[in-house]
Amino acid sequence: MLILGLESSCDDCSAAVVEETAAGPVLRSLVRESQDAIHGPFGGVVPELAAREHLLQVRAVMAAALAQAGVGLTGLDRIAVTRGPGLVGSLLATFSASKAAAWRHGLPWVGVHHLLGHLNAARFAAPDLPFPALVLLVSGGHTHLYLAKDWTSLQLLQKTRDDAAGEAFDKTARMLNLGYPGGPVVDACAQAAPRTAEPFTPPKFRDGKASWSFSGLKTGVKLRVERNPRLAEAGAADPEVQGLCRSLQEAISTWLLKPLPALAQEHSARSLVISGGVACNSRLRSEAARLAARAGLRLAIPEPRLCTDNGAMIAAAGALLTPEGDPWIQNADADLKLGA
Ligand code: ATP
Ligand code: FE
Repeated sequence: MLILGLESSCDDCSAAVVEETAAGPVLRSLVRESQDAIHGPFGGVVPELAAREHLLQVRAVMAAALAQAGVGLTGLDRIAVTRGPGLVGSLLATFSASKAAAWRHGLPWVGVHHLLGHLNAARFAAPDLPFPALVLLVSGGHTHLYLAKDWTSLQLLQKTRDDAAGEAFDKTARMLNLGYPGGPVVDACAQAAPRTAEPFTPPKFRDGKASWSFSGLKTGVKLRVERNPRLAEAGAADPEVQGLCRSLQEAISTWLLKPLPALAQEHSARSLVISGGVACNSRLRSEAARLAARAGLRLAIPEPRLCTDNGAMIAAAGALLTPEGDPWIQNADADLKLGA
């Protein structure tokens, strides 16, 4: 089965052709247009600009994905698109394009929850993953832990009380004037660091409930920059800036992973999936590998280009769902709930 997957929930416009085989999904093409240069000067995504840019990009992105896979719209068996959650103006670009293409060619069509997409990104490298799985979805908008009993179900176990982990990376990079998005540049600085800076203190929760909090990290970095203003101008090659990035990265990966062994035991999990943009992080990937080996969990972290938002993960999830009826009556949903 050949599926075209489309994704534009935030600031990436992406299309991919995936072949679903008996052995799992196989990537035939993947195209992604980044808008980093447009949003970079603002230090974050500007929804209106993102929506307008998607409208300009969507046709060419779809055409390139089809051309690279050597298939036309008529050669497809299905179209899958992100229905939500996300920025509604952004979502509508690929959503409307998918409806038009499905209607024009009479193709089966399916709307996909964005987070089911992130989970299914792991299916390319680990189609035989044993369930139940703990699923850590970490990105600029999410820091959520789920229990999955298969590739199409996610049950929330815990989430951040405030900021997403990706936001801590992005805001730190902004305060240090390192560019946007922050994750990749903070990661590179941390890897180049000769030593760590003073460690960040983990948050304490008075109610004792399991969760995460990353907003204190933002304040922590802000206070350090106020104490030492040269950090804001020193740049990525400065050893002190690098040390700060390394301490931040170590704090985030340690905090993210800490609750997982106990939860894996409690829920008899057999595997651990980590996906979303922050799953590209080098320290998180290496620490997760150590944790999984210790806890006897099979680990599945998608290759970096499949961790960030992309059309391939939407196609892979869409392959497992039942196509819906007339696409014209469907609508994108900025606040789409899981299981809806
Ligand atoms: P969502 O709607 O799922 O929250 P998103 O818009 O945040 O999506 P993603 O592409 O899944 O999109 O994730 C982007 C985030 O990942 C950004 O915050 C970025 O800084 C972060 N990121 C990317 N690479 C790295 C890295 N190497 N280390 C840490 N964070 C990273
Ligand atoms: Fe995402």
